[in-house]
Amino acid sequence: MSANQKKRGENMLSVIIPAYNEEKMIQTTADTVDRILSEASVPYEIVFVNDGSKDGTWQQIETAAKKNPHVNGLHFSRNFGKESAIFAGLANAEGDCCAVMDCDLQHPPEVLVSMYRLWEQGYEVVEGVKRSRGKESTIHRACAGLFYKMMSKAVKIDMSRASDFKLLDRKAVDALLEMPEKNAFFRALSSWIGYRSTSVEFDVQERTEGESKWSTWSLIKYAVTNVVAFSTAPMQFVTVAGIFTFLFAIVLGIESLVRYFTGHAVEGFTTVILLILIVGSLIMMSLGIIGYYISKIYEEVKGRPKYLISKKAGKRK
Ligand code: UDP
Ligand code: MG
Repeated sequence: MSANQKKRGENMLSVIIPAYNEEKMIQTTADTVDRILSEASVPYEIVFVNDGSKDGTWQQIETAAKKNPHVNGLHFSRNFGKESAIFAGLANAEGDCCAVMDCDLQHPPEVLVSMYRLWEQGYEVVEGVKRSRGKESTIHRACAGLFYKMMSKAVKIDMSRASDFKLLDRKAVDALLEMPEKNAFFRALSSWIGYRSTSVEFDVQERTEGESKWSTWSLIKYAVTNVVAFSTAPMQFVTVAGIFTFLFAIVLGIESLVRYFTGHAVEGFTTVILLILIVGSLIMMSLGIIGYYISKIYEEVKGRPKYLISKKAGKRK
């Protein structure tokens, strides 16, 4: 541990680390980040955000904060999700630049130093870009591919190798914090705000302790929420599907009329059944999509906070 802790205005880096059920990782992560940043003499603080963990994560954070004055902790009143944890960390960080990193050391902390050096050169957003995606199943890879295609379209930036591992200048952090939306998608918003950006490549490391917090279902939910938060394309899909069904209906209509006038009208039952099924399902799907957007608007209108902090650890207690 070094005594190079500095106040804002002296180029301090805040490292924001969301943690959910990471009791085994907190000390290791805190020590590793401390060692690497101290060796590189980067003035820093760590902000752990305990996202409503059910294990001893908070106790570990408190211990780490006692041991190392650079370590701070925020304790959520319940699990609000990684996105909220990131925003809470950003809101409570005091650094001149802030980096977001996973607690499981899958984002190699050595890269923090390269990011910091780029920031010193004047870059305001430094994106961590995955050189490889690490070990993943084929289905997972395919679904992630589809999701990032849609997101890349919406944000107009290639997102396929994007990650939450990035460093933002104070200006960029303040811009993000000023956004009123509740369903923020950090990974895309950090590109959306613009600013002078660059990227560094990193290799996703294997998780050493604990397990991934993402089930297939939570990943699907994450994908749908973020597509809806960033793009209205699914609603346009409703219109496009409507146009196609209409064209189809015209063709079938003409065919039926011809049959009627030529006296072959009766055996049209299959067509009727097909039409009812197709049109019915399209209408239901469309209503579902519109309903989903309305429910998201409802959530935003209620204006509830993204997270609630119940306890703090470290020097800002
Ligand atoms: N995380 C969180 N809240 C959650 C789920 C995850 O703060 O509800 C944190 C987790 O502790 C870790 C990071 O988000 O620091 C990434 O989670 P994980 O390693 O499970 O995701 P993966 O690496 O498998 O994408
Ligand atoms: Mg991980």
